[in-house]
Amino acid sequence: MKVPMLDLNVQYEPIMDDIKIELEKVFESHKYILGPQVKEFEEDMQKYCQCNHAVGCASGTDALVLALKALEIQEDDEVITTTFTFFATAGSISRVGARPVFVDIKPDTFNIDPQKIENAITQKTKAIIVVHLFGQPAEMDKIMEIAQKHDLKVIEDNAQGIGGKYDGKIAGTFGDIGTLSFFPSKNLGAMGDAGMCLTNSDELAARLIQLRVHGENPQYFHKWVGLNSRLDTIQAAILKVKLPHLKKWSDARRKNAQYYYKNLNDIPQIKTPFIHEKATSIYNQFTLIAEDRDRLLKHLRKNNIGCAVYYPKPLHIQECFSKLGYRKGDMPIAEKISQKVISIPIYSEILKDQQDYVIENIKEFYAQI
Ligand SMILES: *Cc1c(COP(=O)(O)O)cnc(C)c1O
Repeated sequence: MKVPMLDLNVQYEPIMDDIKIELEKVFESHKYILGPQVKEFEEDMQKYCQCNHAVGCASGTDALVLALKALEIQEDDEVITTTFTFFATAGSISRVGARPVFVDIKPDTFNIDPQKIENAITQKTKAIIVVHLFGQPAEMDKIMEIAQKHDLKVIEDNAQGIGGKYDGKIAGTFGDIGTLSFFPSKNLGAMGDAGMCLTNSDELAARLIQLRVHGENPQYFHKWVGLNSRLDTIQAAILKVKLPHLKKWSDARRKNAQYYYKNLNDIPQIKTPFIHEKATSIYNQFTLIAEDRDRLLKHLRKNNIGCAVYYPKPLHIQECFSKLGYRKGDMPIAEKISQKVISIPIYSEILKDQQDYVIENIKEFYAQI
């Protein structure tokens, strides 16, 4: 038996014909830059996420850079974010010349600890980038309260949490701007790179639309220095076909998660993901805290089970951020958790037999050590 981390073959098989029909339309029109499919997909997404505006762009990383630029974050500004996330969250802060200020996470949800945000605020703090890690929204009620109290902008990096909810409200629509990634392994993946910004503000939406075309308005007149970061028409056409399936796919992930909970909860050496009572996760990852993690990883891979460590090293101790002056030991929870996490296959189409095989192999590993 073989269980990959993600199986795009089985995801695409039933929708490939529909995608080809839509692609054919793009090829016939030759409208490759901001063709009609971009606007159509943006409208579909705006409805799906129940917000006022959705602005497509070239990647989830660019969505973060565009969001920071739209909120006029610049040199010498400080932006608070979590140390336990994919690199792009903090990389985008550096890219606009600002300083990432890292805070530690909660040990149960792996999301940013609101209490520690408050301790990190200085005169220079302008914004917070919250991450909804592995598909579970962070504690947006507490975070928005802190932001309002200190007059800070809020960006939600929702690359991993599309359609997730907190207190019944869609993740990515609490703050000033929410960002999405359509990287192929996200719950809604393109056939290449693509991303999006969500906002309820007419003014910010207008600014994002200008910023993705070099800050121009009208053409050849530039108010801002923007990017070249459009959502590709071909990717928009593909995503438009896939979006109506997203709810079903995320429901399937939740069902798969329940099966793991039922069958893994009695293993004392591992801890299954904890979901906050107000949060609805879309399980972009199913991440365990595991004793003897590295040996478990080897054991599973040896038996043809895809698994991965997200993330092996928190961002505050990454080499590229050494100038910021953080030391090992500054963020003890993230540092400890990065040594213990392992993500196992949870994709929508995984078969029960495959999940059983993963469960058996984890049990077998702990029985033998
Ligand atoms: C995937 C991801 C991104 C970046 O998205 P790209 O589309 O690959 O640029 C940003 N933040 C987080 C948390 C991610 O998981």
